[in-house]
Amino acid sequence: MSLESLHDLYLEQIRDLYSAEQQIIDALPKMIEAATDQKLSAGFSKHLEQTRVQAGRLERIGQRMEERVTGKKCKGMAGLLKEGEEAVDEDGNPEIIDAGLIAAAQRVEHYEIAGYGCARTYAEALGLDDDAAVLQQTLDEEAETDELLTNISMSILNPDSRADIVVEREVDQPTRRGRGWSDEPEARA
Ligand code: FE
Ligand code: FE
Repeated sequence: MSLESLHDLYLEQIRDLYSAEQQIIDALPKMIEAATDQKLSAGFSKHLEQTRVQAGRLERIGQRMEERVTGKKCKGMAGLLKEGEEAVDEDGNPEIIDAGLIAAAQRVEHYEIAGYGCARTYAEALGLDDDAAVLQQTLDEEAETDELLTNISMSILNPDSRADIVVEREVDQPTRRGRGWSDEPEARA
């Protein structure tokens, strides 16, 4: 696609993120199965639910633009998940394997944080306030997941140094921006 405007770039970034989320949806069940630590598998399961919601938000952004969000492959995420698969296939000490799974998952979260941060900023620049709010909501979830993974990693590697970690099942927390955006498909005006 030819990039003539910020809007073109924005759409391309949304498609890239959509591909990334779809690849994560395919990969997470293997990570859940490979994880030994119960908090880690629960954290991955929660993030799988969140990821499905995040993909739905991108579909609705596409619908508002009357553009499809499919058709692009995020090669960066493919590479990160390939590394994640190497961690899934390792044998050895379960706690060390869990730490390796977390290292792979945190790379994924940081990549998503970079992508969603750019897309949110483009949406703001384009005056697409509803899009900016939902992209920020996803960005907040990715950052929370990253922090949770750090805490779980610390608890696995140094069990004495932590307070109990609670993985909440609720997927849809209100965002910092609190614009009252809902994940329900909206009626087209
Ligand atoms: Fe995501
Ligand atoms: Fe994520």
